[in-house]
Amino acid sequence: MRKKDAYSSLKILHDLNRIDRLRKNKSIVPKTIRIDLNTICNHNCKFCLYQENKNGLSSIGLNENMPKGKLIDSEKLCKLIKQFSKEGVESIVLLGGGEPMLHPDFEKIVKTISKHGLEWGIITNGSRTKDLLKYKNDKNFKWVRVSLDASTSATWKKIHRPKDAVNFNRIIKELKELNKNKREDFLVGLSFVLYKDNYNELGSFIDLSKKLKIDNVRISLDYSGGSLSQHKKYLDKSIKLVNEAKRKYNSEKFTIFNKISPRSHDIETKKNYSKCRFMDFSLNLGADLCVYTCCFGKYSPAFKLGDLKETDFKFFLKKDAKKFKEKFTIDLCPPCWYSGTNRVLEYITQKEPIHSKFIG
Ligand code: SF4
Repeated sequence: MRKKDAYSSLKILHDLNRIDRLRKNKSIVPKTIRIDLNTICNHNCKFCLYQENKNGLSSIGLNENMPKGKLIDSEKLCKLIKQFSKEGVESIVLLGGGEPMLHPDFEKIVKTISKHGLEWGIITNGSRTKDLLKYKNDKNFKWVRVSLDASTSATWKKIHRPKDAVNFNRIIKELKELNKNKREDFLVGLSFVLYKDNYNELGSFIDLSKKLKIDNVRISLDYSGGSLSQHKKYLDKSIKLVNEAKRKYNSEKFTIFNKISPRSHDIETKKNYSKCRFMDFSLNLGADLCVYTCCFGKYSPAFKLGDLKETDFKFFLKKDAKKFKEKFTIDLCPPCWYSGTNRVLEYITQKEPIHSKFIG
């Protein structure tokens, strides 16, 4: 089992059936659906794309139409999960315009996902880590990524601005529990979004994760300001630190993923692919039961492929998704952190290049 490529954009190359269909200009069923279970959160992280104001969660940029205080209709969702499985979707990521574990029907939803043979993972702020312990033996539960973003309680509090009694030390304690005697194919990861208030703790965060025997850490960059200038003071030295730590620590037991470098590259450079094929492989279902291209486009009408409140998923794929993709253009998109996947897909779905028999 190769754990060190868990976040590689090259993973799509293992799905030769889907790639072959795309090469023949045929449509494919997405492999992953990423689902917002709600738009409610018990934290208010400073760099979150869905910042809270006095009216509740209120997103910024493209996501500014996100409905506030919304819980996905779990009854409808469970019916959709069955349809996803029937059509050939293979995995579900639970995340949110908020904290997914705050959905009161969380248990019913994940049991339905597993019952229909779909694999699932979750991105969470960690405040309900203890509640994940009961799913540890569910073989379809494949990974959890806890947004920690700090190595000390003080910085964690400053950045996450929690509204309930959960504290940093409790999350660390529960992470240890989750990590204990776990299955080989179940990965526990931590994430750290580099920001002006936590860059001093990047090194100690990596050390803490290693000490906790976490499988992987994912270091990325705050995107809420939409530019790199805000990170100027610490960007280069942080990249250096991450690359040195990778050289020192990376192994099958502990992997550091540097997402800062590709993200800063994508913010600064023009897209060098012509269309979004990422959305063929992965789609986002909002808490409003509408389908969107990706996390950037969630809740934005220009990035909405269709509505699954009344529509059957099979019909949606055949009609709404097809129609949307025919007219959608990436000129609408912000710098995109799925560019790596899109570049690979553009290359592999085009005709073979000249002299393809010559290698090297
Ligand atoms: S932002 Fe990226 S993933 Fe989203 S639609 Fe545009 S190219 Fe696709």
